Amino acid sequence: MSTFSDLELDERILEALTSEGYQTPTPVQSETIPALMSGRDVMGIAQTGTGKTAAFALPILHHLANEQPGSGRPIRALMLTPTRELAAQIAERLRVYGRHLPLYSTVIFGGVGQSPQVKALRRGVDILVATPGRLLDLHNQGHVDLSYVEHFVLDEADRMLDMGFSKDVERILALVPNKRQNLMFSATMPKAIGTLAGRMLHRPVEVDISPEAPTTDRIEQYIAFVQKSDKRELLIDLIEGQMVSCGIVFTRTKHAANRLAKQLSKVGIPSDSIHGDKSQTARTKALASFKKGDVFVLVATDIASRGIDVEDITHVFNFDLPNEPEVYIHRIGRTARAGREGLAYSFCDETESGYLVGIQQLLGEEIEVLEDQPYHFEKARPKPGQKPGRVKGSPGGGRSRRGTGRGSGMRRYNRGGQKRGDGGNRSGGQRGGNRSGGQRDGNRRNDDRKSNNRSNRPGQKSDRPNRPSGGRPPQNNDRRGKQQGRSNASNRQGSRRRTQRRDDRS
Ligand code: AMP
Repeated sequence: MSTFSDLELDERILEALTSEGYQTPTPVQSETIPALMSGRDVMGIAQTGTGKTAAFALPILHHLANEQPGSGRPIRALMLTPTRELAAQIAERLRVYGRHLPLYSTVIFGGVGQSPQVKALRRGVDILVATPGRLLDLHNQGHVDLSYVEHFVLDEADRMLDMGFSKDVERILALVPNKRQNLMFSATMPKAIGTLAGRMLHRPVEVDISPEAPTTDRIEQYIAFVQKSDKRELLIDLIEGQMVSCGIVFTRTKHAANRLAKQLSKVGIPSDSIHGDKSQTARTKALASFKKGDVFVLVATDIASRGIDVEDITHVFNFDLPNEPEVYIHRIGRTARAGREGLAYSFCDETESGYLVGIQQLLGEEIEVLEDQPYHFEKARPKPGQKPGRVKGSPGGGRSRRGTGRGSGMRRYNRGGQKRGDGGNRSGGQRGGNRSGGQRDGNRRNDDRKSNNRSNRPGQKSDRPNRPSGGRPPQNNDRRGKQQGRSNASNRQGSRRRTQRRDDRS
């Protein structure tokens, strides 16, 4: 299958795809669309970034546009997703793909007032995108009638169950008619998903887009062994050294995400956090600023990051390694979208070595170690034959003593104190942890800023400016491109990343 026209989609949909610049279907689209067009159920193993939204949205739009409802405008397609962000993004894509069709869709999710959602439902919608809690809420209040649903999509089913929505999904399944077309997408296929698929799907066509192959191919991955207490400094060094202007940092906890975003902003890296405890308005605002380029770095927890669909993310930083190897694939898949390349840096402290073992087993290879960085902490490296999973009796990564030991050289930079112009005269010269050939001297750092000599930054090989260990920087990235040739400071103060908005987005 080489073009969208081969898929026999409605001309009006093809027109929208052409304006979007879509030329060829992605693998998940080539496999899913024909199955759904012929009325079959589909069980898809695919993650965000593979083009799965269009894979289910296009045939459903096609069917709805070409079948008249009996009367009025009942909800004929229901798309259920675990997070608000994902729901909003699916709704946005539906509007784009269906812009020439006489169909209405709306999105409902919790965390915001319900009355605009109720109003939209009253006007009548053909397609409803929803998170489970708010859907059941509004159903219980009599605002939603699901008895005309013909197409049912369960997106990110594994995450749905992880987030404790399995009972809600059961309840919703009981509200839709038995005779319907079903589609389930999941990034992973744990047992519980198999069971749910068995109940929900009728003789499904199975589409398996293996999670690691399509997304990690174009991603350069590095692992840095580091003490927990040095992670922040290493992160700042990498962000500065790589001139990151569109990056995501993953932390394990919401609290850590908040704190880190504040700390980054304090040292002049415009950052914001996104996590489940933030109001929907705050999350939407953070995401919008990130897309627009006012925010360079988004610090996120896994759940909130689901569905973040920003095409020009160049860097993903795993500040904390995820406990589940699949989550690692998901996280790094936030970069290298839409054919671009990306970089993924992961930090592994002593307590996380077992997680790294699991990740490398899933990848089937070892991630290249970033030894050329001043905080390198050998003890965090997994032991030969180490088993995957949690490290028992691990020290828990307490704060390292400042001013002593390897890696403490970072303190010389006193990032917060740069404004005072003392750059690092407190350093006391070279240290054992200086693996960057003497570049860690504070005066040199000041010089770097003035002269924009970005080579020899931590995490970079000395002969490769702007790159950690050779290779080309990600291409086709205006945000990143804008950064090059400017000093970090001037970038932060003066430049704004060019907004990569698609014209249809509002
Ligand atoms: P998804 O996996 O649905 O989140 O899609 C990931 C990104 O790929 C989105 O930004 C889509 O707009 C884009 N995309 C989806 N299908 C195609 C395609 N066939 N050609 C180009 N871009 C696409």
